[in-house]
Amino acid sequence: MRWRDIDRDGPRNHGGATLFDSLGGAVERRAGEGQFLGMEFLHVEARTIINSLPARSRLPFRHTINAYRGCSHACSYCFARPSHHWLDLDIDEGFERQVVVKVNAVERLRAELAPRRWAGEPIAMGTNTDPYQRCEAIYGLTRGLIEVLVAAGNPFSVLTKSTLVVRDLELLADAARRTEVSINLSIGTLDPEVWRATEPGTPHPRRRLEVVERLREAGVRCGVLVAPVLPGLSDGVDQLDDVVAACVDAGASSISGGQLVYLKPGTRQVFLGHLARTHPHLVERYEAWYPGVYAPGDERRRVHRLLEDAIRRHRGTRVALSRNRATGAGPRRPVSRPSEPPSAQLELGL
Ligand code: SF4
Repeated sequence: MRWRDIDRDGPRNHGGATLFDSLGGAVERRAGEGQFLGMEFLHVEARTIINSLPARSRLPFRHTINAYRGCSHACSYCFARPSHHWLDLDIDEGFERQVVVKVNAVERLRAELAPRRWAGEPIAMGTNTDPYQRCEAIYGLTRGLIEVLVAAGNPFSVLTKSTLVVRDLELLADAARRTEVSINLSIGTLDPEVWRATEPGTPHPRRRLEVVERLREAGVRCGVLVAPVLPGLSDGVDQLDDVVAACVDAGASSISGGQLVYLKPGTRQVFLGHLARTHPHLVERYEAWYPGVYAPGDERRRVHRLLEDAIRRHRGTRVALSRNRATGAGPRRPVSRPSEPPSAQLELGL
């Protein structure tokens, strides 16, 4: 089994053995120390680092890099949690505490960007793990990857919830002068109680807004992805209005999002388990709202309208359906599924 196959599609063809088993001695386990006490880092050598999605994919990006797997930001709703299951790792606390580190990510990227192999298409980071999660402070893989992308003049995007991105301020400013760069902070809510309950490992959302401001001051356009929105927790008119007002104040270059959380198998169990501890009165309502993966269409449209209205109120200017700058340099076709509201990629160009 090649690491590339794990990255793309999950547990195919591994014949019952764990995927780590199939990597043999390639996994080196490192116990976290100091501020990382209680964490474990699983060092692996990736066969390839650029992951190319199938042409049929509806996602707004074609190529991705995820140098880590698992995420200490510990969002209870994280859609990437089930990918730990493919490695026979726990998708609840294990996803937050056992982080796979592709230690050769930078050297792989340098090789894969060779002109004869690569046509210079945009690459998205932050699609399956946060590239600036806490351990990036020690491994520096995201920084190394960006250095390689900048040297190659290759367009890229970064989506993060972390303030650590300001460490790379100068590098990103340089990148923005040399190629197309899209940076987005993910801020679904400013409600401190909801933040603590659902994103316990992330920096406070107000600190993320400071990052937007810092990047703007450094000449790097930075947008905000207001997602996911959590029904009954962060979908109030005032809550969404507060987020939009703060984004505008911070000088966000775009505001996109408004998607209600989607709860695929695995994520659903973890999320509802957390909810039972933090907001038990909402569990039954979630079970009714989510007979499947998505919230009902009318709810999704309602929340999109709220976000759209908030943007209009605070900018009083144009609201455009547009490509999703949060995660890529532009979709090849609209991202919304047939049953989703047409404003799934709501974005305000500022
Ligand atoms: S920051 Fe992103 S990848 Fe990390 S736990 Fe939260 S949703 Fe998942």
